[in-house]
Amino acid sequence: MKKLFALVLALLVFPCLAFSETVVTSFYPIWVMTLNLTKGLEDHISVRNMAAPSAGCLHDYQLQTADMKALSGADLFLVNGAGMEAFLPEITRALPDLPVVEASEGIDLLKQGDAVEILEPEEKEEVNAHLWLDPSRAVRMAENLAAGLVRLLPSDEAAITANLEDYRSRLTVLDQQLRDGLKNLARRDIITFHEAFPYFAAAYDLNVVAVVNKEPGEVLTPTQLAELVREIKSLGNPPLFVEPQYTDLSAQTLSRETGSSVWSLDPIVTGPEQDVPLDYYETVMLQNMNTLIEALGSD
Ligand SMILES: [Zn+2]
Repeated sequence: MKKLFALVLALLVFPCLAFSETVVTSFYPIWVMTLNLTKGLEDHISVRNMAAPSAGCLHDYQLQTADMKALSGADLFLVNGAGMEAFLPEITRALPDLPVVEASEGIDLLKQGDAVEILEPEEKEEVNAHLWLDPSRAVRMAENLAAGLVRLLPSDEAAITANLEDYRSRLTVLDQQLRDGLKNLARRDIITFHEAFPYFAAAYDLNVVAVVNKEPGEVLTPTQLAELVREIKSLGNPPLFVEPQYTDLSAQTLSRETGSSVWSLDPIVTGPEQDVPLDYYETVMLQNMNTLIEALGSD
């Protein structure tokens, strides 16, 4: 009786507990997509992001106790896939009944190292996980996520589909803006510091002629730096693009030694934690476009 009373009280105080579904996303880009797809459904779908927005890419991510706890109470786990969540087997082993949707499912992927790579050539066979940076692939990812949400919440199919259509048309506009903006660049060669941009480069006809660090934060030895200086000079000193998430001291050294300029491109793996603007991805992609136009010149 006491228990029943407590339950009734809980339902009175937290009426949403009775019918709310909890969706957990693995990291920032998937979170932003999912917030767009569940717009207007906040009263019965709770969307929580697992890795703190400051975590960035999940390449070296270590699962926290709090993550497993959040996932054990989840009804659906939405992930990037393509190897971004290397910890996924650990989760499916611990929570075999938790449905998982991989946004990258069925989408053409680039191999790691499809761009010319200076370091770590031995890892060329892995796929590159940063597919959300191509807006046309981002649309396909949103479709996969929407399908997973509809399976969980069939009664919300109409709303989720309408949100998907809205997002698809916004991303299609974005794609055209990028296409127009980057059409007449004076140069098209770039050097990046983390292998996040090959999909973007493929979509807009840029050449990632070298990737300095395959994963962020690698410390380069003096020998590697010297080799890179030679390489960059031989490539005609293309601009260097670091990422705002990672301080890269080697970029300053390389710039000093070669005369290549240093710029910042944002792979959108971090962002505001509160009141995430639903158009955050579009806004940052356009900032990246403007940076590229400034760095590479436009005819
Ligand atoms: Zn990454």
